[in-house]
Order: sequence, then C-alpha cells, then structure tokens
Amino acid sequence: MYGIYIHIPFCIRKCPYCDFYSVTSPEDLRREYLLALRNQILSFSRVSADTVYLGGGTPSLLEPEEIAGLISLIRERFDLADGAEITMECNPATADTARFRGFLDAGINRLSLGCQSFQEETLRSLGRLHSADEAKAAVRDARSAGFRNISVDLMLGIPYETPFIAQQDALIAAELEVHHVSAYLLRICEGTPFADGVPGIPDDDVQAECYRRFCSVMDESGYRQYEISNFALDGYESRHNLKYWECGKWLGFGPGAHMSDSVRRHSFPPDIKGFIDAFRDGPVPDPLSLMRDEGTVDAEEYIITSLRTSSGLDTAVLSSRFGTLLTGDQMSFLEKCRGTGLAEISGGHIRLTRDGFLVSNSILSELI
Ligand code: SF4
Repeated sequence: MYGIYIHIPFCIRKCPYCDFYSVTSPEDLRREYLLALRNQILSFSRVSADTVYLGGGTPSLLEPEEIAGLISLIRERFDLADGAEITMECNPATADTARFRGFLDAGINRLSLGCQSFQEETLRSLGRLHSADEAKAAVRDARSAGFRNISVDLMLGIPYETPFIAQQDALIAAELEVHHVSAYLLRICEGTPFADGVPGIPDDDVQAECYRRFCSVMDESGYRQYEISNFALDGYESRHNLKYWECGKWLGFGPGAHMSDSVRRHSFPPDIKGFIDAFRDGPVPDPLSLMRDEGTVDAEEYIITSLRTSSGLDTAVLSSRFGTLLTGDQMSFLEKCRGTGLAEISGGHIRLTRDGFLVSNSILSELI
C-alpha cells in the first residue's frame, strides 16, 4: 500500500531555524499552485493507498474547501482504503474551532499541530507566530471540533532549554491528552538565520538530560516510544511516517516532495515557479521525467531508518529485500554496543536502547 504526501509550500513567515521548502507570498500563487498540483496528481497512475499526509509549509493556511477539493481528488484518482489515515499539519496560529470543524468535514481525521513548545520564552526565541496559550488552545479547539487523533510536534535542544523545561513540555502534552507526540532535536541548518549563530543552545550533556527527562514523562504517561523522536498512545502511531522509516512506498506531490516505490526515489526540485510551469497546462504523460532521480533505496538506508525505530533492524528483511547481511565487523561493533547497553540483539532483530538513541548518530556513522 502506498502513502500519499502533498506538500503545501506556503507559510505566513519563515521561522529562523526552518529549512523546509516554503514561500511567504501564498496569495499570489495559491490558485495557480493548486491547479498545478491537481495536474501533477492526475499525471500518476492509480495506486492503492492507506495514508494521506498534507505537510508543509503550512497546509492549514488553505481554506477547508480547498482541503476538501484535494482530498476528493485523491479519492477520485487513487484507491484510498476504508479507514485511511488522513493527516494535516497545522500551525496553531492559523486555526480556531470553526476552521478545525471545516478541516474535519473536509475529510482530515488526524491533526499534527506544530506547537514546538509550551513555554512563552522558548516560542519567542524560535520566532514562532503563536503563544504558549494559543498552542494549548489549538489542542483543545481541535478536540472540541471533533478530532479524535491529535499529534503535537515539540522541539528539544532549543535555546535556553533545561531538563525541567523539557519535562514541563512533555507533561503539558500529556495533560492535554494528545494521542501522539513528536519531539525532534533542533537542527541548525545551513542557509537559515540560526546558522549565523543562535545564543543559548544547550550543550550535549544538557540536551541528553532534556531528552531523558522528556522520554521518562512520556513513559510514565502511557506513551510508547516507537521511533527515536516519536511517542504514541496504543494504536496511534503515525501509519504514514512508518512508511518512511520502513523504506516503504509513497507518492509525494509538490515542489521539494520526495516519492519512492520502495526501489527508486524521485523528487521535484524545491521551486514553486518551476513546478507551476511544469504542470500548468494539464497532466503530463511521463511525470517522472520532470523530476530528479534521487537514486535507489539501498541496504544502508534501511539500516539507518530501521535502527531509529523501536522495532529495530530485522536481519531477515535486510537479506530478503536487499540481498545482504551485516558484515562481521558490523556485527562485532553491534555486539560491543550491546555490551555497553546501547543496543539489544535477539532473534535476528537489532534495536538501539534509549541510551543508544542518544548517540545514534555516532553509532550509525560507525556502522555505515
Ligand atoms: S517551521 Fe513550519 S511554519 Fe515555520 S517556516 Fe517552517 S514550515 Fe513554515
């Protein structure tokens, strides 16, 4: 089964840490963009899908009727399974109960709210448009509008963060009774204002303690960590994101979006004007020829993504899908990790422990 990703590359303004592809003048381009997106979608053959994910950018800048139009197009074009997970990312600054109700009526059944933090100071230092109260209100409004599957995105390793702050953010998410929490470590990306220097970034030891405290609150509150940065109540894991981590299949529409048939990857360059030009006149017969070939999905990628999940690396899958096994050197390195409590090895499965997750970058670079 495929997942369907749709990129909505519009934001009210750019956050200073963000390197996702988006532009800040949605009104000029919106109509043309939605038309080009429609034509790109119609250019692809029918597949069966069980997840849809509207990401960005800020999909919640679109009107509920525009979201409804996109979802009915997806239903028309692809065989969408009954009970498909249909997620939309939402910036707390862009929605209230009435809009949430509109998104629900449009067919969205899972919301991913980009709260990032529930602390006023932190939100200011991240240049976010919403306050801590608005972030909390967004969760409540989404629930009162009828959403029964709500995820929040939070960040760790952010300016002036302490373990206490990380713990507070986790506690607030749990008290808000969200179903899923993503907690990504702030990455300083080339080309963003943060790359020129940002004061107050905690050192590695503080970041590690923030992560541990965050995870402990998640454990105590009944969330299961199923990926290095993701926690869910039972049955609320992101089915769409699991496709990425399991090197599965998905179609990705819009500039900057990637797609994979589990063998090869393609992407359209992050250029909205180029995208509109490419798909302005209607569906095209060979859409992949307009996209970048991003190479094959290989064993290395499977090793990296699977070791980020709590189910870990399945050596039987490595062998059957990629025709390879871990080398003797790789196995003895992993045995050493097991000896130091960083990994567990049993029944052909290799998993990183929580301490292993903390140093996963070093483990993976040594392994690969
Ligand atoms: S973090 Fe989200 S809202 Fe901020 S610029 Fe990036 S995509 Fe837009």
